[in-house]
Amino acid sequence: MIQLSNITKVYKTKNGDLTAVRDVNLTINQGEIFGIIGYSGAGKSTMIRLLNGLEKPTTGEVIVNGEDIAHTSGASLRQARQKISMIFQHFNLLWSRTVEENIAFPLEIAGVSKSERASRVQELVELVGLNGREKAYPSQLSGGQKQRVGIARALANNPEVLLCDEATSALDPETTDAILELLLNINKKLGLTIVLITHEMHVIRKICHRVAVMEAGQVVEQGKVLDIFQNP
Ligand code: ADP
Ligand code: ADP
Repeated sequence: MIQLSNITKVYKTKNGDLTAVRDVNLTINQGEIFGIIGYSGAGKSTMIRLLNGLEKPTTGEVIVNGEDIAHTSGASLRQARQKISMIFQHFNLLWSRTVEENIAFPLEIAGVSKSERASRVQELVELVGLNGREKAYPSQLSGGQKQRVGIARALANNPEVLLCDEATSALDPETTDAILELLLNINKKLGLTIVLITHEMHVIRKICHRVAVMEAGQVVEQGKVLDIFQNP
């Protein structure tokens, strides 16, 4: 479970203080697909950086699996962050490495043996539907295939939370749907908690259970997607 309590984030800028997130309270349940939607500048990226521990809130608590990552540092922060994984709008793949090398990368860093890496990579390749493309380089893949590599890499170390940062914003509508379908399957199969930020209503409607709507740093509405974005 993820719990944000009374979160405010103020950036010091040369033009003075800028409040990017103000008084946010959110609870995201284990195994849930939770969406955060808002226009550019609403505070979504700041929320993601608070959730993955890259940024500390000015006030408030960020509880992830029982640990307040806002008030943790060093080894225990690193340990908490190992349970949190991320996928990106522009995939952030290593361009000089193949599909299987990209997926194996976090396993290598974690010190997993070569033979164990190989079998884990094969499992992940199958999970995301990239069979036959193991030896390809990112430049030889379509956008959707690149995001499949991103997803496989993100899942390599069995995270409990997957953060999706505009993960379908660079994809065409059909590919977007296929990637959302994959995320939905992974959520069901692995019971993984998924938090996604987006500016696209379609993404929220298609896979999220609950949603928070952000405007100018505040959550102005939250609840079940069907209640908040009811068709008239
Ligand atoms: P979104 O992801 O919804 O576009 P952001 O979280 O990126 O929103 O930005 C929210 C507000 O905080 C914006 O006004 C933005 O300019 C400001 N902001 C974001 N990051 C920083 C930063 N590192 N330093 C100063 N201001 C920032
Ligand atoms: P796509 O067209 O699939 O979005 P891009 O070529 O635009 O892929 O690259 C996506 C991201 O990867 C960009 O942020 C870009 O800076 C980075 N990138 C592209 N090529 C390389 C490379 N050879 N090495 C490192 N990063 C790269």
